[in-house]
Amino acid sequence: MRDLMRKSLKLLFVWVFFTFPVVRASDTLYIHCLDVGEGDATLIVSPTGGTMLVDGGINGIGDDKVLPFLDNLNLTSLDYIVATHYHADHIGGIDEVVDGLGIDSIGVVYDRGWSYTTQTYQDYSQSVEPKRVTIVDSQMIDLGGGTFVTCMAVNGNNLLEEPFTQPPIDENDLCVALKLEYHGFAFFVAGDLSGKNTANYTDIESSVAPEVGRVEVLRVDHHGSKNNTNQYFVDSLQPKVAIISVGQNPYGHPTEEVIQRLEAVPSVIYQTEDGEGNIVDGDITIKVCSDSFWVNGDSYGMSVGIEGGGGSQATPKEFTLFQSYPNPFNTTTSIRYSVWGDHPHPTTLKVYNLLGQEVKTLVDKEQCEGYYRVLWNGKDNFDQDVSSGIYFYRLQRGDLVQTRKMILLK
Ligand SMILES: [Zn+2]
Repeated sequence: MRDLMRKSLKLLFVWVFFTFPVVRASDTLYIHCLDVGEGDATLIVSPTGGTMLVDGGINGIGDDKVLPFLDNLNLTSLDYIVATHYHADHIGGIDEVVDGLGIDSIGVVYDRGWSYTTQTYQDYSQSVEPKRVTIVDSQMIDLGGGTFVTCMAVNGNNLLEEPFTQPPIDENDLCVALKLEYHGFAFFVAGDLSGKNTANYTDIESSVAPEVGRVEVLRVDHHGSKNNTNQYFVDSLQPKVAIISVGQNPYGHPTEEVIQRLEAVPSVIYQTEDGEGNIVDGDITIKVCSDSFWVNGDSYGMSVGIEGGGGSQATPKEFTLFQSYPNPFNTTTSIRYSVWGDHPHPTTLKVYNLLGQEVKTLVDKEQCEGYYRVLWNGKDNFDQDVSSGIYFYRLQRGDLVQTRKMILLK
């Protein structure tokens, strides 16, 4: 695993020195949820022009849809491609995109590693091989302009055991789950991530939900299948907007059960098509700027809910623990958080190991409202170096608690 991380970091460094001509400086982040029928393809363009394509739709969609879409935006390269998992409706079009742009125009292709049995997978793995890197849980990718994408789960989020192959494990359990953060805006996308324990599936959504926390926009898992986007997951993320990527299918996607769970939040639902393949919202573009975001032109405030009706609760921004940076880290990482309230209040920030044992107390004092930044140098309470691995850091202020993950890599 460490070798993979090293490989990944090495490629990242190579990538930093490899610049592309397309740089658009602005303060606007775009997320395009392409209408690819029954499948997924999401294009992220950061304010500084950093690009990430998450999935590429089914076979043929790369040529027919994704490449023309990129062309329309004058994009001739992609910094990152992420394959959430190896089902054809997610990776089918990726080799076409890679071949169309040329492998030299692709920075890094992240996926869950391991392998899969289909011809579609063979085509995918052959085309991306020179740039392919296995993503690591809690790895953070800097897209530029304050846009960070963090891996929240991969290969079952520690609930499953190797080998991560099908059978015995369902491919949906193994999905790469990503959380994008840009200032006060958060977006979650996880392919077909499983949300229910059955004979075939393991509920990964519920294990990820507390780490993800609230989001403005949720890319609904598995095209609105009733076994995904479970109640606990929806209640935890409380998305203001839910986007369902769906097309003609025999499974009844999107299911009434999922629609009802989302409407109860309440989330405003957008969907690319209906289950018969009729266009509903088509391509769905999210534009994020300052303290608002727009979905296909509809305006939403990030702290006051939807503007002009529709109804969505305010999102408390007063108590936030941010992802540490860099992550993974080698010597020192910086942890930011914000706390609010009229009076000074006891606040603690502590680091724990995987066994839940306290490793280091970083903050333990009364703090006033505001933004704070703390550095951790990988040493414990006795000033001894701790070993490489995954650590949790936990912010507590009264009843309010938030926990996140980071990786120390020596
Ligand atoms: Zn799918």
